[in-house]
Amino acid sequence: MGFVTRASAGAGQLVDIHGDNMAETEQQLKQQLVQCIRMLEQADIIDYNGHASIRVGDDRMYINIGTCQRSLLTVADICTIDMEGNVIEGNGKPPLEFHLHAGIYRARPDVKAVVHAHPKWSTFLTMVGKSYAPVYAQGTLVYPLPMLDSPNSINNKGMADRLAATLADRPAAIMKSHGAVLVGKSIVEAFVLANYLEENAYRQYMALQIGKPYCFNDHEIAMCREKLWNDVLFKRTWDHFSAKLK
Ligand SMILES: [Zn+2]
Repeated sequence: MGFVTRASAGAGQLVDIHGDNMAETEQQLKQQLVQCIRMLEQADIIDYNGHASIRVGDDRMYINIGTCQRSLLTVADICTIDMEGNVIEGNGKPPLEFHLHAGIYRARPDVKAVVHAHPKWSTFLTMVGKSYAPVYAQGTLVYPLPMLDSPNSINNKGMADRLAATLADRPAAIMKSHGAVLVGKSIVEAFVLANYLEENAYRQYMALQIGKPYCFNDHEIAMCREKLWNDVLFKRTWDHFSAKLK
């Protein structure tokens, strides 16, 4: 695709022929990724080890540098890597679990963004063999939730393939005594699902302390999905957390 210099775009600024500034779009995607990770950190869903990525083209991704401070993240903490983990651009190395992202992108052409975190409440359930139950409307969107039956880190291709097979065509999977993985057609979607998953697990856990929680039936789950799975509501959830970001 050719580029032209648009007079109104300022001296020397390259604009693609559809009118989008490509450099700006890259910056915007990186900024979205930064915002996602900072919001997950503030919501206590991601810790010092969590990571998120956005697919760029067929064989690359933006991902946070492994050693970065999640709460203070900036676009300078985002690197570009290929599916083998080679750094194409950036000021540091990807997390050791970059394999998790690469494995899912290989297996799922529909996935454009991946979040991996070690959230407490959803992981508590796996520690004692309790299945994730749909107890809260938004939480039904990731139900049924497949579980990877291993606490091992996804730091090699074999484990990455195993996780991708567990996830199959679902939007989320839980990893026993380890964490959760959420995928989406955008980073907004993966972020929002991470919140829904953890909130549902929290409510399930708390309800279990005082009794047997009510689980949504198939009809109720179908109605929730029809009402709640849409980009406008996902954006509203994103904006809710964005407004609170310090
Ligand atoms: Zn992990």
